[in-house]
Amino acid sequence: MAEGAGGPSAVKYGVTRDYVKAWRWCWPTAGSFTPGWRTDKGVVGYDLTRLFVGSEGTLGIITKIILRLIPQPKAKQTFLVLMDSMAQAAALVAKVLARFTPCTLEFMDRTAIGIVRDQLPVAVPAGTAAILLVELDGTAVAVASEGADLQAFLLGQPGVNLVRQAADSAEAEGLWAARRAISPAAFSLRPHKMSEDVVVPRTKIPDLVACAEGLAQELRLVVFCFGHAGDGNIHVNIMLDRADPSQLANAEIAKERLFAKVIELGGTLSGEHGVGITSPAICPWRSMPLPWRP
Ligand SMILES: Cc1cc2nc3c(=O)[nH]c(=O)nc-3n(C[C@H](O)[C@H](O)[C@H](O)COP(=O)(O)OP(=O)(O)OC[C@H]3O[C@@H](n4cnc5c(N)ncnc54)[C@H](O)[C@@H]3O)c2cc1C
Repeated sequence: MAEGAGGPSAVKYGVTRDYVKAWRWCWPTAGSFTPGWRTDKGVVGYDLTRLFVGSEGTLGIITKIILRLIPQPKAKQTFLVLMDSMAQAAALVAKVLARFTPCTLEFMDRTAIGIVRDQLPVAVPAGTAAILLVELDGTAVAVASEGADLQAFLLGQPGVNLVRQAADSAEAEGLWAARRAISPAAFSLRPHKMSEDVVVPRTKIPDLVACAEGLAQELRLVVFCFGHAGDGNIHVNIMLDRADPSQLANAEIAKERLFAKVIELGGTLSGEHGVGITSPAICPWRSMPLPWRP
């Protein structure tokens, strides 16, 4: 709760903030109280929940949380989409979200594709600029109907090179395994990684990817992007060898320039990982003396 965590399904289901109803809050010098609503509806007063979720321990200690639960979906369909251009992939993300309600809408750029090419169930042509992974969930009937519509829609879109629907849950899991493998497999490129998780408006994803590619070229680093295109939360990974001082210096420059670009694009610096203590310049209150800190 203190991190406001989310994940690939946030595009449909939201993040932790959307599921916290009430919690017990403790302040060492002021006792405790339980803000929020235990009822399903509660509209009066300040919404302290939205203030506390994501506060990363700066506003007090949480000792109890009451969460909203929802039923697990009964059926899923997963689609792999190969795209010829990053700009067309980003445009397609917006179009899909305007017509459908996918539970995940992930993307990989060309470097990320190269990292897991061998693990994907289809041969990916060399010119492929982006992959989208789109998943629908719900009742079996609804998913079958929406899935047929989605497939027909995708096949008619500019830049779409191939649409493959996972034949069964094993194939869908294979696609997800490839997606999950990107991060660990990236160490085959360089021994160390700076992993950022910035968020930009969806329409600005191509600008972010272009920025990452430009930084990689200019600073002689490997930089690649993948992540939650559906909500604009992109994992930008800077690969380097920390033992090489010039690579380390260039990676720090790349990170600063990336953050500046994200702000320029109207984005935010973290969609999942939080700010923590690694960036005091961004989050000066992290060094404030707080009663529960030793
Ligand atoms: C490999 C990796 C993958 C990740 N992937 C994702 C992801 O997909 N999605 C995502 O959202 N995040 C992701 N994260 C970040 C993740 O959300 C956080 O690391 C995690 O939520 C922190 O929980 P913790 O209990 O381990 O951390 P802790 O370090 O214990 O706490 C994290 C923060 O919460 C505060 N805190 C802890 N306990 C309390 C309390 N009782 N009351 C008030 N404040 C408290 C701490 O002060 C700190 O600021 C990832 C992290 C890693 C390392």
